[in-house]
Amino acid sequence: MSNPWLEALDQANHHLQNQGLIRQLKLRSSPNGPFVDMNGSRLLSFSSNDYLGLSNHSALKQAMAEGADMYGTGSGASALISGHSTAHQLLEDKLAQTQSQHIPNVATCFINTGFMANMAMITALASLGNISIYSDALNHASIIDGIRMAKAQAQAQVFVYPHSDIEALQALLILDSCPYKLIITDSVFSMDGDFAPIQQLVKMAEQHQALLYLDDAHGFGIFGKNGYGCLEYFDIYSPNIIYMGTLGKAVGVSGAFIAAQKCWLEWLIQKSRPVIYSTSPSPAIAHTVLKSIALIQSEEGFKKRAHLFDLIAYWNQRSNFTRWHVLPSSSAIQALIIGTNNAAMEIAKSLNNLNIWVPAIRPPTVPEHTARLRITFNADHSFAHIDLLIEALSKIESNLG
Ligand SMILES: *Cc1c(COP(=O)(O)O)cnc(C)c1O
Repeated sequence: MSNPWLEALDQANHHLQNQGLIRQLKLRSSPNGPFVDMNGSRLLSFSSNDYLGLSNHSALKQAMAEGADMYGTGSGASALISGHSTAHQLLEDKLAQTQSQHIPNVATCFINTGFMANMAMITALASLGNISIYSDALNHASIIDGIRMAKAQAQAQVFVYPHSDIEALQALLILDSCPYKLIITDSVFSMDGDFAPIQQLVKMAEQHQALLYLDDAHGFGIFGKNGYGCLEYFDIYSPNIIYMGTLGKAVGVSGAFIAAQKCWLEWLIQKSRPVIYSTSPSPAIAHTVLKSIALIQSEEGFKKRAHLFDLIAYWNQRSNFTRWHVLPSSSAIQALIIGTNNAAMEIAKSLNNLNIWVPAIRPPTVPEHTARLRITFNADHSFAHIDLLIEALSKIESNLG
């Protein structure tokens, strides 16, 4: 007898296969680092968001053990019930300090993941009723899903504006009579590596009494003198900003935080279902993140950032290919646009055969016909590693004829 569920699954999988869109897990059997053991081979990796190389740092591993020893492994409950420990409070105070020059009367909330933080804050804002949301066309999936939830739960109106197009955004804002406007953007775009026009967006938000929500997943830890992210980098001070930073990328641990004027953080715990109904993050993780922020502010952090930016400059000078286009980017994310899904997969495979790991990124993560290699650098890479990558790509390019 045929099973309708399995038939539907079979059909859906065939469809993905035909489009070159089947995804497969790869097993990494070593810690993350510039070299990884993956599917049984040792590969030079340009794939992680661990931009400062902190995910396997000895001081942070020690902090994790120390945190577990001091506070236990689990928080036991959601923050409002009894899960908000001293470890959480110390971390939130420290995180607030990182944004205190940029947002008045700032407070923060430590949340399990960045995906969840976007859901949490966007839905909490939308719960005030009848809001208009303006979202960049290339925003991260977690922003898109946060907005979808805001639409479903609170009838938020949504306008998607063309990528970084300030004039198009301005035109939409002028026509909208809704008093509650929320502009949302990645600060550094996750698949392109470019910056949003943050200074102009801040001005525009202030002009229209809008809130500007900045997702700094790829900025916090890296940009700014102290690594405090995009607001420090662009020297911004505004009461209109809601800031989201993640702690699993450059910070090397896991989790995320929202920073905004205190009233918004108080509202978050009144109305945000992902915060109210989820067990708060492990206090051992909170303690480890606290140590990681201290490291990021230290001499070692400065040196790591300086080296990372030297690597990016080195790549920008040398990555000239005839067949492929490198998107302009001054961040650690460098996208090599290939085009078709199958071609991107083939090139990733050829690199893999040369013991280099760069992931191919396909739709729906990126727009149709822009399948790409997403190359990411981190502070543990050397200039010689970049030479190896460029030589390998050049060899593959010349073999393509
Ligand atoms: C990775 C990422 C997130 C999600 O953060 P996690 O902590 O990994 O859940 C959110 N926004 C952007 C732009 C990201 O790149």
